[in-house]
Amino acid sequence: MQKVARVDTLVVGGGAVGLACAIALREAGRAVRVIEASQVGSGASHGNCGTITPSHAPPLAAPGMVQTALRWMLQPDAPLYIQPRVDPRLWRWLLTFASRCNVRDWESSARAKSRLLNDSRARLADWVRDYALACEFVESGEDYVFRDPRKRDKDLHEVPFLRELGVPVETFDGPEYEAAEPALKPGVVGAIRFTGDAALRPDKYVAELARALRERGGEIVEGCAFDHIERTRDGVLRVHTSQGVCEARDVVIATGAWSPQLARAIGFPALRSAMQPGKGYSITYDVPARVPARPLILRERSVCVTAWASGYRLGSTMEFSGYDTTLNERRLAALERGAAEYLHEPVGPRVRERWFGWRPMSCDDIPIIGAVPDLAGAWLATGHGMMGIGMSTGTGQLIADLVTGRAPAVDPAPYAPSRLA
Ligand SMILES: Cc1cc2nc3c(=O)[nH]c(=O)nc-3n(C[C@H](O)[C@H](O)[C@H](O)COP(=O)(O)OP(=O)(O)OC[C@H]3O[C@@H](n4cnc5c(N)ncnc54)[C@H](O)[C@@H]3O)c2cc1C
Repeated sequence: MQKVARVDTLVVGGGAVGLACAIALREAGRAVRVIEASQVGSGASHGNCGTITPSHAPPLAAPGMVQTALRWMLQPDAPLYIQPRVDPRLWRWLLTFASRCNVRDWESSARAKSRLLNDSRARLADWVRDYALACEFVESGEDYVFRDPRKRDKDLHEVPFLRELGVPVETFDGPEYEAAEPALKPGVVGAIRFTGDAALRPDKYVAELARALRERGGEIVEGCAFDHIERTRDGVLRVHTSQGVCEARDVVIATGAWSPQLARAIGFPALRSAMQPGKGYSITYDVPARVPARPLILRERSVCVTAWASGYRLGSTMEFSGYDTTLNERRLAALERGAAEYLHEPVGPRVRERWFGWRPMSCDDIPIIGAVPDLAGAWLATGHGMMGIGMSTGTGQLIADLVTGRAPAVDPAPYAPSRLA
């Protein structure tokens, strides 16, 4: 007879989101085991840009985005690229995405994301202090830098709405900004500073979350893949994994961009077309001599520049090409080309890593957090898109509150998986 292990709470996925859920659940008194198919932090949480951005609450699905995306389909190194192909799930996802490119949905997604981003931002500073997370966390703010006055004016137009969402904003004209930031080439026409934003080194953050969890008695099993779940007649959740069967009171699925592949395995088929992997790239270098004082978004090129004491990274681009595992040279080169338009030293002296990751993109750009419909005890924590690091602590707390039945710190309604059913 197959040996069945018993755990109180099983978290599936050892990225920033799964580990944050595990820590918050542990703090709420639960015994926790995390299973990770590969290694902790080997997914999107590894080589991302590490910015913590309540300022990024507005979703990708913005008015005018459909026209922009169609234009960019003809340009393989554009910041957003949809690989033309026959994939009914991708097209269903795109249709939902396109239907939300209007002011009303844009605002409602932004408000929903904002609550979680703001909660997470405050919570992250507490976690860094309380768990002594050595992850190069800095409350630096982040700057949008512009070389095109039309783009600057478009973004300035959103500033009152961002302020309404609780995002502190400062604006600079070109000469003023250039004088204060010598890393930039001349030609800046303006900048927007989000003083409440922050940054950290994401691979260290994930490693430190894992350490903090283990120190508090949490267990992490690497090389253990979730296969499927069933509810036994006596009401227990039975989870089948590559390392055997395990029974749990609660199961949290935090498998990032892989989540739609598990839709059938958790009995929630709607998840299949509700998410797509949004591929992004980064290049990490030794630190150049002249780096910006805080993370920058080179706005016209959508390139994010992050400099830590331990390294320097260019990152970004959004590509919908399914689970394609190739490193696209053209898109990597576009990062360096974009950075070279703005920065005196766009790259570091030595490349350390060229990387891609799959962002877990939900069709409404709102995270998917809460109970799996029709499977009591199963929970989802996924769909964090471009902001899973910045939303990790708030998601962890929300999941812990929902699982343990406490009053949640943020209203869970906008994130409920049932909205996709
Ligand atoms: C280029 C780029 C830049 C980015 N910049 C930022 C940024 O500046 N700030 C920010 O907040 N976000 C950023 N993001 C987004 C961020 O990386 C993601 O939102 C976040 O990492 C998602 O975390 P996660 O834990 O949900 O997923 P992941 O980190 O992908 O973790 C999911 C884990 O689940 C595991 N798994 C999958 N299937 C199974 C299974 N069957 N069984 C067990 N385990 C399984 C995987 O191996 C993986 O380790 C960026 C992303 C990219 C690509």
